[in-house]
This record gives sequence, structure tokens and C-alpha cells, in this order.
Amino acid sequence: MYRFKRVIIKIGTNVLTRKDGTLDLTRMSSLVDQIALLHREGAEIILVSSGAVASGRNEIIAKNKLDNVSARQLYSAVGQAKLINRYYDFFREHGIACGQVLTTKESLGTRRHYLNQKNCMGVMLENKVIPIMNENDTIAVTELMFTDNDELSGMIAAMMDAEALIVLSNIDGIYNGDPANAEAEVIRVIDPDCDISAYIQASQSTFGRGGMLTKYRIARKVAREGIEVIVANGKTDNILPLLMTPQTEVVCTRFIPSAKPSSGIKKWIAHSDSFAKGEIHINACAAKALTGEKATSLLPIGIVNVVGNFEKDDIVKIINDDNKTIGVGKVSCDSEKTRLLIGKKGNKPVIHYDYLYLE
Ligand code: GLU
Repeated sequence: MYRFKRVIIKIGTNVLTRKDGTLDLTRMSSLVDQIALLHREGAEIILVSSGAVASGRNEIIAKNKLDNVSARQLYSAVGQAKLINRYYDFFREHGIACGQVLTTKESLGTRRHYLNQKNCMGVMLENKVIPIMNENDTIAVTELMFTDNDELSGMIAAMMDAEALIVLSNIDGIYNGDPANAEAEVIRVIDPDCDISAYIQASQSTFGRGGMLTKYRIARKVAREGIEVIVANGKTDNILPLLMTPQTEVVCTRFIPSAKPSSGIKKWIAHSDSFAKGEIHINACAAKALTGEKATSLLPIGIVNVVGNFEKDDIVKIINDDNKTIGVGKVSCDSEKTRLLIGKKGNKPVIHYDYLYLE
């Protein structure tokens, strides 16, 4: 049997495109064959596929010179249609239904929208439809857009309580240096409790938006929530069945999932930092208590400052005495009330441990 029942598979632009940027249909069809096999044998798969912008770029010659935002809007509108049509046809050859889910970061900002999105994917899976997700690049143009589809896939893995997230790129995994350098090696196993970001190459990929460092950061966060993350080469033959089959050797990077999976609400909070409405600054003593071994809530006595205006149940950032964000949490009272509580004794938490995520 396969190692995971429910798995999110993210396919990067560089896996789906040839060197000249055109859509690599042979690769795409081979990946669909692999997914179809897993699906037939009972795995629940959600696909997060990039490649819209790249597919559109070769379809259309713009009349005038376009700024970055307009170019992305035009190419993604045309390219997404092309991409999903190809997927639809390839899956249909296997007698499998797939459906398109386009989303934006902003539309996942409230708990209600988040749960609506979760429900949509749930009903698709229940009916054996493979969701194919992408960011809606035609409207996600502000600062509130996903850094890349790695971020989107991490959020979906957490949302859907997946057992694993497989990120397919055009290299074998995360390297301990520049992959172009012969001495650099794939880091085979990563313990998400250790921060090794200093060893990872910060450069971006050729056609996609992401890079190795963002992959690493997202993967680490997701693994700490109890989900195994695998970064592997989508151009390796039969990669998906190989990764899904127990005791099979294949070069890739695996992030060991934390033994204590986070609750649904904690996972939502962990991926909601960009929706923070304000900041709560805390003293060194409170920071030590929060980041210690024992589960601790944030009490008024540890608060030194409150920035911004927020309502009860909003997400806020928690900032330590070095001015560094150490986490996010859902507040139990609004900013006005929190200001009145600064430094006061009392056991009623401003952020309860169950609604707290520490980086
Ligand atoms: N949503 C973009 C596309 O489909 C890709 C974003 C990314 O590179 O992760 O073209």
C-alpha cells in the first residue's frame, strides 16, 4: 500500500516547461499517468499546478509593451485556460474527472472563507474528482498575493489535513549550496526543529516565482505541523509512485513530520501571518515562557506595547524585545482593551495557547 492516503502534489512551472518556456506536454502527460495510477489505487490527491503564466506567454503577442502586473494578468488568463484544458483531456483519457480551483490569499483571510474553501475540496475528493489548484493570477496582484505556489500548497496541505506534501521541482531536492556547483549535495533528511536556512541558496527559479529558500521555509513550517514534506525532481521518471511506495530509494529531500500534529485552528493561524491586524510587543521574560517547552498562553503582564487597531478574534503578530516577530495568535480582546491590560497581573490570557503559533 502507499505511504500516504491524502497527499498534496505541487508541480512547479519549471517541471512543466521546456527550456524555451513552452509547455512540455510529454512531461505533463507522464505526471498525469502517475497521478492516475495513485488515484486508482485509493490515494486522495490534490494537485497544485503552476504554469499558467508560462503557458500564456507563448500564446499571445501583446499589442503594446506591458507592465509586470498587466503581463501577468493577460498571460495567466489565457494560460490557465490552456493549462486546465490539457489536464482535463489527459485525465479524461484515464476516465478521471478533475476540477479547477482558483484562489487568492486574500480570499482565505477569514476563518469562514477558509472553511468554505476546505469544504469545496472535501466535496471534490469525496466524489473522486481531482482538484487542480492555482492562484488566481488575474486578480492576485497586490502585496497580498502568495509568495509562490509553494506557499499556497503549504496552506492547502495544512487545511486539508494531508499526510504529505510533495513539491516537484526541476532539481533533486534542497541542496547544501548552489546546485550548479559540483560539490553541492542534496540534503536527504531535514529535521524541521533545526533551522538550516543559512546553508540554502537564496536565488529564484527561472520561470516560476519561488526559490529554494521559500521552499525550505514553507516545508519546515508544514512539517512542524505534523505533515511530511518531500521536495523531489518532477522530471525523474515515475517519481510519484516511487515516493509513495514504502522502502524505495530515490534522491529527494524529506522533512520529518513533527510527532505532535497541530490542531486545525493552529494550522490556520500558522498560515495567517499576512492577515495580522496589529502587533503585541512582549518582554524578554514572556518571550522565554512562550518559546519554552511548556505550553504557555500570553498573559497581560508580559505585554509592553500594542500597535494597530484590532478586534477580538483577529490575528496579531507577537514581537519580542529585539523587535523580531516570534509568532502569531488570535486575540481574545480588542486593541483598546489590550492596551488597558499592558503589564497588569491576572491569569486571563490575551492569546490562549490553543490559538498561538510560534515560529
Ligand atoms: N501561479 C503562477 C502560474 O501558474 C505560478 C506561481 C509560482 O511560480 O509559484 O503561472
